[in-house]
Amino acid sequence: MCFRVDCKKCGNIGWGGCGEHLKPLYTGIEKGKHCMCRAWPGVVIPSSDKPSSSTTATAAATTTTTTAG
Ligand SMILES: [Zn+2]
Ligand SMILES: [Zn+2]
Repeated sequence: MCFRVDCKKCGNIGWGGCGEHLKPLYTGIEKGKHCMCRAWPGVVIPSSDKPSSSTTATAAATTTTTTAG
């Protein structure tokens, strides 16, 4: 069986073992605590889900466009 390990890189929970029992392992880990340094073969990882609707007063985004030829 695979087991969860603490990732030293990101501090989240990764996995160890054969890699064939990752589905139950993945679902057992709290959301947002998954280590993504290593792939999770066999696990369907949902693409970046939208953040919960809440209006926050954050308006400080400065983007500069540079054109390089
Ligand atoms: Zn396993
Ligand atoms: Zn990691």
